[in-house]
Amino acid sequence: MRPAATRARAPLVQCAVVSRPVAQGAVVARRSVGYPQVVTRQLARKTPLAELHCHLGGAVTPAIMWGIAHAQGIRLPTKDYWEFRDMITVSNRRARSFDGYLQLFHWTELIQSSPIAVERAVYEVVGGAYRKNNVTTMELRFNPMKRNRGGERDLDHIILAAIRGLDLASLEYPQVRAGLILMMDRTFDLRLNEIIVEKAIGWASRGVVGVDIAGPRLGGARYDYTQIEPMVEAAREAGLGVTIHVGEEGGDMGREEIGEVVERLRPDRIGHGILAAGDPELMQAIRELGIVLELCPTSNLLTKALPDEEAIRETMRRFVEHGVPFTIATDGPEMMRTHLRDELELLARIGALDEDELREANARGHAAAFRRPLRVATTA
Ligand SMILES: [Zn+2]
Repeated sequence: MRPAATRARAPLVQCAVVSRPVAQGAVVARRSVGYPQVVTRQLARKTPLAELHCHLGGAVTPAIMWGIAHAQGIRLPTKDYWEFRDMITVSNRRARSFDGYLQLFHWTELIQSSPIAVERAVYEVVGGAYRKNNVTTMELRFNPMKRNRGGERDLDHIILAAIRGLDLASLEYPQVRAGLILMMDRTFDLRLNEIIVEKAIGWASRGVVGVDIAGPRLGGARYDYTQIEPMVEAAREAGLGVTIHVGEEGGDMGREEIGEVVERLRPDRIGHGILAAGDPELMQAIRELGIVLELCPTSNLLTKALPDEEAIRETMRRFVEHGVPFTIATDGPEMMRTHLRDELELLARIGALDEDELREANARGHAAAFRRPLRVATTA
């Protein structure tokens, strides 16, 4: 059963665009509200967690971003830290305009637009996720071309700086296996996106583990995902993982895009894909191909991709009932002011997933990571 036509809204952050998707009221939630939070706290503390969908632009603590900005002499629009914090995070969980969301990434990407800044950012995110949430499988995604000041900085320097940050974190936290995903953009022309994939392939042996695409649609028009098929094939042939941002918003158009992505690109994973919950055939195709959805509940609420917790619960239950594989992620913990543990607790609290289902989603996150387990050398 398809949901009623949804009203498209303005696109949002680099990964997301606002709308009101997913069949509202189409599924009766079978879980009671008020699932004991202590269960998931235990899960989070004792169990190594996997975070597969995390944007570098939304993942660095504001205090560290503040320091990086000043270390580089970037002229910020405010000299007050707290104003700056509100500038780069979804403050007070209030709905923001499209321009407001774009501003969030505008500043984080600008501040991260140097080798030194990228290295520090990656290093801090990987270590911070381990310390705060026991995240031992971590994939961090970013678009290097949005961090080289329009070509002023060399792309390889930016990418290698991210790899250095990864290496440094790996030395300090050998329990963590972390990888980088380079992102194409829906607003870029084909050549630019080709270059990003070429770079990903070129640095695959050093910690780049996959490719992705995100960003707003030009003019709000349906994005033709078939045009990036050659890049996706090249990445796959080179051994890289493929994940695609699709089906986060856009109503029927978004569902058509999911269908095209599933049929033509056959990615290993899909970023969000929540609109598939309104389409049994799509869910069947995703299940049969073993595509793993990376679901980010709080992000969906903050971007209005889902209207409320009830819609989150309905979406989750649909995926469970239809056997759609998924894992849970934050999208960007600092920008969204959430952490992976918060996401698990949210899902338990609203009765979206029980403890076994949470454990299964987390285990799937470890299994669906593009980076294979590290063999940590030990010396006597
Ligand atoms: Zn995203």
